[in-house]
Amino acid sequence: MHATPRITSWIDGRPAPVGGATFDNLDPATGELLSQVEPADEALVDRAVAAAAAAFPAWRTRPGRERGRLLLAAAAALRERNDELARLEVLDTGKPIAEASSVDVASAADCLEYFGGLAASISGQHIDLGSGAFGYTRREPLGVCVGIGAWNYPLQIAAWKAAPALAAGNTMVFKPSELSPTTADRLAHIFDEVGLPPGVFNVAQGAAGTGRALVAHPGVAKVSLTGEAGTGRAVMAAAAGTLKRVTLELGGKSPLLVFGDADLRSAVSAAMLGNFYTQGEVCSNCTRVFVHSSIHDAFVEQVCARAEAMRIGDPLDPATDVGSLISRAQLDKVLGYIELGLSEGAELATGGARVEELPDGFFVRPTVFVGCRDDMRVVREEIFGPVMCVLPFDDEEEAIRRANDTPFGLAAGVFTRDLARAHRVVAQLDAGTCWINTFNITPIELPFGGNKSSGIGRENSPAALEAWTQLKSVYVELGEVEAPY
Ligand code: NDP
Repeated sequence: MHATPRITSWIDGRPAPVGGATFDNLDPATGELLSQVEPADEALVDRAVAAAAAAFPAWRTRPGRERGRLLLAAAAALRERNDELARLEVLDTGKPIAEASSVDVASAADCLEYFGGLAASISGQHIDLGSGAFGYTRREPLGVCVGIGAWNYPLQIAAWKAAPALAAGNTMVFKPSELSPTTADRLAHIFDEVGLPPGVFNVAQGAAGTGRALVAHPGVAKVSLTGEAGTGRAVMAAAAGTLKRVTLELGGKSPLLVFGDADLRSAVSAAMLGNFYTQGEVCSNCTRVFVHSSIHDAFVEQVCARAEAMRIGDPLDPATDVGSLISRAQLDKVLGYIELGLSEGAELATGGARVEELPDGFFVRPTVFVGCRDDMRVVREEIFGPVMCVLPFDDEEEAIRRANDTPFGLAAGVFTRDLARAHRVVAQLDAGTCWINTFNITPIELPFGGNKSSGIGRENSPAALEAWTQLKSVYVELGEVEAPY
């Protein structure tokens, strides 16, 4: 019999065991105990912040190309260990291995490569002030930064925060979700193995209490959170006490507009990926699919046929399309919303139930609601599960108005063969990321983030570096200084 692995925080280049109480990390697909995790209390959070603060002066003054080289080495290590890391991600999250081994680890590596490459180019500006003076700006790191992650893309989220932060010369304390503690710990080991100096990247394990301690800590300059809108509000309010900067990547209820001239098969494919990938646990999912009345029935028929053909089962089986939801709480939430939708008068076109043949996990059939009204709670609130609402529309102006009628603004998509309409509609959609004739593609080169209640700030692209740095203006006098007194 093997002893249950123990995961501790990672501080100053090594594990930081404290030997106190632990919480269980379970495989959501089987209920099996994967590891026991020591949560970081306030004292350990203090130690993590102190380690990051101690590492900051040397890290910030290293040439960008050297910082970048370490990130590139970490990216290569991630790619080398793709299968091992993908498996760990599947065990923690219940997502299908076909996804984790092609997307989760690779997207984290992409991010480390991208910002590793940019690190040497982070620079300010020269400003001409006439013959007697000039100015310049320096783009400087903020200091000790905190990243707090959600459980749906644990390694990707850790990389999306760590890579630009470290490239810019910051040091970091990262807190993964208590439901997915493993791969942030692996990332810390990998950083260590490629030679990242101790203290530059630390991991504080734990739940919301650990997150709160990090957000309140006076030694922290910035917090970047990926989580629910409610958590975003709490983090922003708490960060205000010490006037920390915040980047908030929050939830959504994103619309997809499918016009009558759309390539129907592609639109259906996008709606499937945008609702059922990762069991629907994706922040930018197009959970409100507005379909032109002329193709509504054909669209629903194709979506249902393809949803019913999806293979639900063991997340470690490469043939599996739909894995387990993250937890019983998430299962109850999703099933609760399905019941609510029915009680509000929506009709189930397919799915709508837990997979009873897999009682050890939290498997829900891909679900499609039709006959929805815009004011139903299933249409308005983020469910974060495999539940698509299809809503017919008749004209463009109406579709845009209804698409924007939400407190969220993370993403939106439009399917049409009419080029002018595609750009005209996208320009009017109130969302941070829009797709034309596809959905949910988030390359590292494009900024990603939300409008309205979906967040503040952007990740990815050079825009992310702005959020992890501050500008210093320097005025240089070339002449003499005259004083009137
Ligand atoms: P939560 O908001 O519940 O948690 C996010 C993280 O914040 C977790 O690590 C959590 O700890 C921590 N946390 C909770 N409360 C506090 C607090 N008061 N102070 C500091 N930290 C806190 O989100 P989920 O983990 O349930 O993730 C799902 C949500 O994330 C969805 O709303 C989804 O849309 C959103 N999301 C957004 C993305 C984006 O890029 N816009 C991408 C992915 C997800 P713990 O869970 O350990 O208790």
